[in-house]
Amino acid sequence: MPLPTPYRPRGTRPQHAASAIRETSASVLPLPLPNLAPLAGTLSRGWHLALSRGWHLTLFGVLWLGLIAVVPRHAQGDEPAAEVKPKPALRIRFKKSADRELEIIGQPLVTAQDGGQMILTDEGQLLVVQPETVIARETLAEDFTPIDEEEMCRRLLAELPSGFQIHRTKSFIIAHNALPAYVRWVGTLFDSTHRGFHQYFKKQSWPLEPSRFPLVALVFADRASFDEYARRELGKASETVIGYYNLETNRIITFYVPDAERNVATLVHEATHQLAYNTGLQTRFADNPMWVSEGLAMFFESPHFANPSGWQGAGRVNRVNLLRFRNYQPRRPADSLATLLSDDLRFRSPSTAADAYAEAWALTYFLMRTQKREFIKFLKVLSRGKPLVERDRRERLELFETAFETDLPTLDRKFQAYMNTVN
Ligand SMILES: [Zn+2]
Repeated sequence: MPLPTPYRPRGTRPQHAASAIRETSASVLPLPLPNLAPLAGTLSRGWHLALSRGWHLTLFGVLWLGLIAVVPRHAQGDEPAAEVKPKPALRIRFKKSADRELEIIGQPLVTAQDGGQMILTDEGQLLVVQPETVIARETLAEDFTPIDEEEMCRRLLAELPSGFQIHRTKSFIIAHNALPAYVRWVGTLFDSTHRGFHQYFKKQSWPLEPSRFPLVALVFADRASFDEYARRELGKASETVIGYYNLETNRIITFYVPDAERNVATLVHEATHQLAYNTGLQTRFADNPMWVSEGLAMFFESPHFANPSGWQGAGRVNRVNLLRFRNYQPRRPADSLATLLSDDLRFRSPSTAADAYAEAWALTYFLMRTQKREFIKFLKVLSRGKPLVERDRRERLELFETAFETDLPTLDRKFQAYMNTVN
């Protein structure tokens, strides 16, 4: 797994950023937007990856983080993603890469001072368009409207190689070249996850929004056809993953994996990420601490083989992660909670990621079981985050301590005591 290029930890943003913002209008970022073109050999974007070794790794995008770290708080996006108001749609033709032109219909979410824009497309993708790559741009007479499912199916079939088919479920569009029986099973699992996810939050008096955009998953028949697609987005790292949710394209991408336990876990995990970012629970490219995003996905993912779909709702003990947490406990340093909460560094290094994931699951499980009301309130605060606006380490810790009305050492004692009772 290639390591992300160095990134500046939170809390070390240069002082000049603070003064730059005073001269900047609230809807304009004082910095150029990052170019999302893949970096050779480096994972540089917002993917949630399920590694074939069996544990999940989220790589949120080094370039984005580099930008976020120096974007002052009130340099916010034009609109929070969940509250986008109707605006005239734009048609933009631009060079996505050296050999690829794209035409999109969308509306700007964030504008940088140099004219670079993060565009929300009518398919629900979030693309960065740099001014120098624009070939043609026009404002359309009609307001921006997400496309419907029929149009999404049409576009998917036009985009994918011949041999791909569409399987529609109640809530998902699956484009695939895999065995129909397998795809039907995947569709059922996705729909169960969708139902379970909405029901879970409805029970906490937080009815989530229906997705504005069709929810798309690509299911490939085998590793080879998956790699062919995923290599464009992940580079060589595609060979080490079995599925991912791409924050930029808003799609789940996976393929047939014979290991049933890991397959169910991966499918539910990635579907949970997609649902969280499409129902108002989380905002793409906002400050989503990884322990929260991954903790939630793992909270939902636990496979259950007594159920024909292989899954039975959220919140069962995640055996794989409990075992990993047990393995971590004897080595767990006193500041473990602080490092988990304050930044995402532990998730980004292969040497510490497995422990960080296990601890994120354990903490989410503990909070959901013992302080659900406070945890839901905490998630609601995070859900109002705006794209490309990030909290520093201190702000993340303060937000956490305020939400749970405690200090970290006290909470950590309770957390340890509780986890020792879980089996
Ligand atoms: Zn994940």
